[in-house]
Amino acid sequence: MPTLWESQRGRESKEAAQARHLEAKLLCLRCPLLDACEAMVCHYEKLDQGIDGVVAGRYSTAERLYNKTYIVRCLGCGATLHPQCAQTRRNREGLRVHAGEQLCTDCYPRMSRAARKGHR
Ligand SMILES: [Zn+2]
Repeated sequence: MPTLWESQRGRESKEAAQARHLEAKLLCLRCPLLDACEAMVCHYEKLDQGIDGVVAGRYSTAERLYNKTYIVRCLGCGATLHPQCAQTRRNREGLRVHAGEQLCTDCYPRMSRAARKGHR
């Protein structure tokens, strides 16, 4: 049996994995280490190293877009998020790039947890 946080495994249905991941995400959002976990996954995403399954209450955007297993969309605007390591290609290709917390670079300054608490 996979842990709550692991990606879809073996014969597990997509629906079962999604239900398990919802439970994982809810636990993450209540965890006192959420911001530290987000900083950790962002570090790896900037290096184009994804983390399997759910981490910091979301899927890692590194590689997700390209393997088509999990298309991650911005929680602010719904745009398909390109990994943080794609930052330098943003303007040239018009990509919406992930800035952390499953938000694009346009939405993050207004909608990140820190911004909503009134301090950045
Ligand atoms: Zn956005």
